[in-house]
Amino acid sequence: MLHAFLFMKRLLLSFLVFTQSGLFAQNPATEQPCLFDALNPPATLRAAEARISAAVAQLKSSNATENSDDIRLIPVVVHVIHNGGSENISKAQIERQIEILNEDFGKLPGTPGDGAGVDTRVRFCLANTDPQGRCTDGIVRLKTPLTTHQPVDRASLKNLSFWDNTRYLNIYVVKTISNGVGGYSSFPYAPPEEDGLVVRHNLFGDSGTAAAAGGRTATHEIGHWLGLYHTFNGGCGQDTCSDGDYVCDTPPAANPNFTCNLNVNSCGNDNPNLPDQVRNYMDYTPDDCKSIFTQGQKDRITATLDTVRTHIWTPDNVVVTGCDSAYMEPPVCLVVADFVTLTPQVCLEGIVYFIDRSLNSATSWQWLFPGGMPATSTLQNPTITYDTLGTFSVTLIATNANGSDTLFLENYVQVTEPGIGQSLPFSANFDDGVFPPTGAEIYNPDLGIHWELDSLAAHSPPYAARIDNLVNVNYGTRDEIVLPFLNLSTSNPDSALSLIFWWAYARSDPNYSDELIVQISKDCGVNYTNILTKSGNALVTGPTQTTPFIPTAAQWRKATVNLFQYRTEEYVKIRFVNVTDGGNRLYLDDIQIDGGLVTGTIEPERAAFPVRIFPNPAFELVRVQTEAGWNEPIHIRVFDTLGRLLRDYGPDPGKTLDLAGLPAGLIFSKSNQPDR
Ligand SMILES: [Zn+2]
Repeated sequence: MLHAFLFMKRLLLSFLVFTQSGLFAQNPATEQPCLFDALNPPATLRAAEARISAAVAQLKSSNATENSDDIRLIPVVVHVIHNGGSENISKAQIERQIEILNEDFGKLPGTPGDGAGVDTRVRFCLANTDPQGRCTDGIVRLKTPLTTHQPVDRASLKNLSFWDNTRYLNIYVVKTISNGVGGYSSFPYAPPEEDGLVVRHNLFGDSGTAAAAGGRTATHEIGHWLGLYHTFNGGCGQDTCSDGDYVCDTPPAANPNFTCNLNVNSCGNDNPNLPDQVRNYMDYTPDDCKSIFTQGQKDRITATLDTVRTHIWTPDNVVVTGCDSAYMEPPVCLVVADFVTLTPQVCLEGIVYFIDRSLNSATSWQWLFPGGMPATSTLQNPTITYDTLGTFSVTLIATNANGSDTLFLENYVQVTEPGIGQSLPFSANFDDGVFPPTGAEIYNPDLGIHWELDSLAAHSPPYAARIDNLVNVNYGTRDEIVLPFLNLSTSNPDSALSLIFWWAYARSDPNYSDELIVQISKDCGVNYTNILTKSGNALVTGPTQTTPFIPTAAQWRKATVNLFQYRTEEYVKIRFVNVTDGGNRLYLDDIQIDGGLVTGTIEPERAAFPVRIFPNPAFELVRVQTEAGWNEPIHIRVFDTLGRLLRDYGPDPGKTLDLAGLPAGLIFSKSNQPDR
């Protein structure tokens, strides 16, 4: 054997390169008070702006006496997302935040909110009645690790707990938000599942865990929720009314202000040339600096309530949510049993994490889990294993000193048999025009823009998969390509095991990026682990453009994800997740899991025998390339790791070797002799 080689060295090298690029993919940690701009890209805002601006114009043109200046009361529900720590803030701290909102939006005399601005006529009330008409204090508490919050999980927060957003303002209090963010909010016209705001617990109110704060993060975020931009939106801009923050009486600001310097005047294009309004709630200045909503901002808030958020403040809704002045709160609200799980469907032996979300301070819990192990529990948040096939009901009896309440959910948990997945190798190159590929599924929860077949650009023509984030305005929603269940144990145990695919992507704005996440589940799709995450510069393969991105051949990139730790799993699910943020088109092509049909070469030996066999790792086909001027025959044989001859491609194998039918883990020999 003149030149025999194993693939491993080369493959290890590939893996190291991948790991390093993974590090580069991480964004630098940047402290920012508010994530509004990052999560509400220009396309969304443009669409909403046209409608809000029209409403503001109508408001100003109508006779002032026709404009009601009545108080508009917004019922609020606060979902405290905690994991048992101090982020499980007190009712007093929450009530104090509601007071601060009313001081700020009402310019209440004698409070820090009584600044040089106006009374917006908006007020807030912790709901006294829940969506089912039951007495409540307007606070829902849930214990989950999701309290360490990443904005990409914001849909999960809302799956855990969400009250009809045409009747309640949903506020989520969490322990942390990634990158030190203080809070963020949706903008008017966002889809319902995006609606509401998320605020860090130690900025919520000015007491308890937020004793060092002034409670203005929520004031600022609700400003966004009511249609306001940052005062520095668009920098100095061209016009102080019709761009920037679209409010005439807030002087333009070139950048966020982080200190309460009243003399800063970052823009000279306003007339009269006024300093930056650092006291405005919509700047980034400290809480104790802020005290102003202007008349122009009030007009936008009123227009938003007149055109988008039209039901939430109506007298009818104020009554049914228990926020009217006639509402007589019962002496004590009775306990209301309630629970949720994010994973009601599991495989045999699957684990279900039940989360109590009973209202009104339950103090003990009695659970019944027919079909589960254990079959009963008195824990608040039990973890139950299901080792019997079928569909099972769950009962929770929640109790406190005032009584008990029972919630019975029939057929709530579904337990299915884990199967044996499809054998390797797996490939999806989309080229047969069948979409989704046989056995795969598309997940399109918003029934909007979704993964589809694309024939304009493909890594391997004629087709690739593509999702059009350029026209997708449901920011934050997930769209998935879910591969069929795979049996990774059919890979060669001695071989590497990798998921390989090609992608292409461009942005529409340098500040925003969609996200590609690849996840794997080894428990029938109950829990997923991220095995690759790309966004921003790590995802980009083409230039930023506001026209549809159609990649050239050179704008495709290859990803290799090591699956070695999953090689004994017989039933895994892998999914490709696009989280849209109004960027541009994302393409996928040539997805493959080789299962061990891996080839390689040892480069230093090329000088002695200048033949390359590539790519490495390879799948189905490899190419044979000799250096220019080499005219002798090339004899290629394939051996297994024990040295047994598997296939002899002969002295003239051509430029392409078909590996079909060969097991994983190959050793190639190449020589210019007919024998070894
Ligand atoms: Zn903001």
